[in-house]
Amino acid sequence: MNQLADRLSRISEPQTIKMAKLGRELKAQGIDIVDLSIGEPDFDTPEHIREAAKKAIDEGFTHYTPVAGYADVRQAVVHKLKRDNGLDYTPEQIVVSTGAKQSLANAVLSIVNPGDEVIIPTPYWVTYSEQVSLCQGEVVFVPSTIESNYKITPEQLEAAITPKTRLFMFSSPCNPTGSVYSKAELEALAAVFARHPQIFIISDEIYEYINYEGKHESIAQFGDLINRTIIINGLSKGFAMTGWRLGYLAAPLELAKACDKIQAQFTSATCSITQRAAITALTGELTTAQEMVAEFKKRRAFIHAALKDIPGLKVNNPEGAFYMFPDISAFFNKSYEDSHIKNADDLCMYLLHKAHVSAVTGTAFAQPNCIRLSYATSMANLEKGAARLKEWLGKLK
Ligand code: PMP
Repeated sequence: MNQLADRLSRISEPQTIKMAKLGRELKAQGIDIVDLSIGEPDFDTPEHIREAAKKAIDEGFTHYTPVAGYADVRQAVVHKLKRDNGLDYTPEQIVVSTGAKQSLANAVLSIVNPGDEVIIPTPYWVTYSEQVSLCQGEVVFVPSTIESNYKITPEQLEAAITPKTRLFMFSSPCNPTGSVYSKAELEALAAVFARHPQIFIISDEIYEYINYEGKHESIAQFGDLINRTIIINGLSKGFAMTGWRLGYLAAPLELAKACDKIQAQFTSATCSITQRAAITALTGELTTAQEMVAEFKKRRAFIHAALKDIPGLKVNNPEGAFYMFPDISAFFNKSYEDSHIKNADDLCMYLLHKAHVSAVTGTAFAQPNCIRLSYATSMANLEKGAARLKEWLGKLK
């Protein structure tokens, strides 16, 4: 075959997608896999949103839309940002896309030049560094561990900044750790950014509603940061709408225009029907989202207690999202029969093939001492999965 472009060698297949694929293959062979690798709510989209989409089809919303989304969808995003976050935007500052992933890509492509440094706290969601690499940016990781609840300190941030720093990217609530920065913690990071006005901030808030401890806070609220923060959000997680494909960003006007220009050359706009349903989601009642979160909270209590009960696992109690991110390094250099565990990848393969539990290796998120377990699955599955983890981890000596 003819030579492919060099940029392909800079990126890899997401481990999350790889694990889901492996799990599906084993399931197809008839093996009863408990899938804890999932990155999406296991709930149906709320009925009032589904109804809005059906109505949109019947009313003929089936044509191309403006690239950044229908005017009233962008207005609905403005309304949501005021209602939930107390932030003031105009519709021109909103660009609606085919998902938070595309919104992230729009922003990274609009900001990062080759050689620019981009600071990413670890663990982090796989896609961030890959998008930066596609733009030939240099990723600068700032590490955190379970001891600091997977959050970085203002001192660490300050130490990572150089004259070449262009961008800081993070998620709160975080995938893969579930950690949520408190208002005071965000304010302390914002104080560092106040001293470095050349830095843009991408604040990925896609898990906003899945927060068990308090109200969501955005870093855009502090000082002048609204003028250089790009808020990324969407419908996938909070409204259980992963397949509908709608994300959005809110940005300073010039940057929003840049993202519109980039998106116009890749996908145009997202689906017209999804956009009509989004108006209902963004302006309507949040009760179904709240019911889903109440259920996640029960599951978090169960899985947290169950994992704490397994000798060797180091566990924290994340404030948001639907992931646990235990430190599993106590199992390194242990064996059972022909399985030898050297690292988190080995442990995930052992759990998949022996315990029939699918998890994602921490290496995928730049934290090689950990694995990610999702509790976006039924309580029955969690009970089965936890029992298997206990049994098979217990065999490693
Ligand atoms: N950001 C984070 C932190 C995520 O976990 C995900 C989905 N796994 C996304 C963005 C992308 O979401 P979307 O479905 O809206 O593209």
